[in-house]
Amino acid sequence: MQDTQAFVERQQEIFFASMPSVVIVGAGVIGTSIAYHLAARGVRDVVVLDRGNEPGAGSTPRATGGFRAQFATAADIALSLLSREKLIRFSDEIGVDSGYRPYGYLFIARSEQAMAQLRIANELQHACGLPEARVIDADEVRRINPAIVDDAIVGGTFCPTDGFIRAMKILGGYFAAAQRLGVRFEFGVTVRGMRIEGDRIAALETSRGDVQGDVFINAAGAWAGTLGVDIPVAPLRRQVAATIETDVLSDTMPMTVWADDGFHFRVRDRRVLLLWPGSPPSSFDTTFDAESWLPQVIAFTNARVPRLRDVPIDPDACWAGLYEMSPDHHAILGRAPTIENLYLANGCSGHGVMHAPAIGQVLSELVLDGRTSIDIHSLRPSRFAEGAGIEASALL
Ligand SMILES: Cc1cc2nc3c(=O)[nH]c(=O)nc-3n(C[C@H](O)[C@H](O)[C@H](O)COP(=O)(O)OP(=O)(O)OC[C@H]3O[C@@H](n4cnc5c(N)ncnc54)[C@H](O)[C@@H]3O)c2cc1C
Repeated sequence: MQDTQAFVERQQEIFFASMPSVVIVGAGVIGTSIAYHLAARGVRDVVVLDRGNEPGAGSTPRATGGFRAQFATAADIALSLLSREKLIRFSDEIGVDSGYRPYGYLFIARSEQAMAQLRIANELQHACGLPEARVIDADEVRRINPAIVDDAIVGGTFCPTDGFIRAMKILGGYFAAAQRLGVRFEFGVTVRGMRIEGDRIAALETSRGDVQGDVFINAAGAWAGTLGVDIPVAPLRRQVAATIETDVLSDTMPMTVWADDGFHFRVRDRRVLLLWPGSPPSSFDTTFDAESWLPQVIAFTNARVPRLRDVPIDPDACWAGLYEMSPDHHAILGRAPTIENLYLANGCSGHGVMHAPAIGQVLSELVLDGRTSIDIHSLRPSRFAEGAGIEASALL
């Protein structure tokens, strides 16, 4: 037993022999993007720790792959526009097709209140450099997506450059590119806590011993609040009902979202994916709820997309995953308020894949330059303590 213990300690010493300059927790799409962007700027000794056995052990593979710049805040629009630019040149820069396909996002309003919020957001989108997003009437909604049957529609918005991306292509691309630049990925390592000395992290306490570093980055997705420092991120179960493969609707159909209640659908690889938020309790449970949630989604679908009535759900293709919710449902990006060498890339609240390319760039800028090329001040971690959380909108 003694010998075994000594062997394990020796392995741990070898494992973390050289002190990394940057330690990132989480090899999801956000952590791998940050690792790549730091390494591309010349940072050596970047280490990414993840408790999974391979990249994508968290929420990233569960994303449905929507991309949009139609948001209601300047910071989110700026993140999307920067991401879009990077997704378009992803193949050249990273060597992989990001899957970006501009098939559009169609937001539908059934109430004047939702329509007013879409209009306000649309004005902001124009002011922020998204002129192609437009307000449309009910007839145009039906023309853009003829599969919809809903008498209550009052209008909507449409942006043709929104569309779809492939979450695991983006993650895999950043992972491989980061490795080529010398980033070390250590899988099977669980971060259990942080040893804080004064206003700095001295070391991460992990299942394979303490890990020291100069700078630490929390990219642990829905689990960001479990690493030993109080980060206001809570898990929220989101579920996807998938039909059998069908040609009733085309893969090129825009993402179609009812702003009033969040019901939305798209087609991916010939399956129609149906989503509705519902109100699940906050927990890490990712069991798919076929009992009460699924019948409600089928009811929405039958009422609003009647041509899907005869297309069965494939129970084996349905899944659930976790959103990483911040208190105001917007990302938390920047240096932690009380810990000088800890940066947060958390709380994307369901937009993490689409914003990952931009977040990787701006986090690397924050760490290396202390400022960012786009304005993300409203997403600073200290905003909750300052009472400056972001207001809710129909376009969360
Ligand atoms: C059903 C569903 C649909 C979605 N659709 C979209 C969409 O259309 N578009 C979009 O942009 N986003 C979408 N999202 C959200 C998106 O999946 C997330 O925002 C994104 O994946 C977050 O990436 P991440 O890297 O922060 O987290 P994750 O991918 O969860 O990665 C976090 C990593 O941290 C690791 N980790 C956690 N705790 C520890 C620990 N203690 N020690 C070591 N490692 C740890 C985990 O193993 C994991 O690999 C969707 C999510 C769901 C569930």
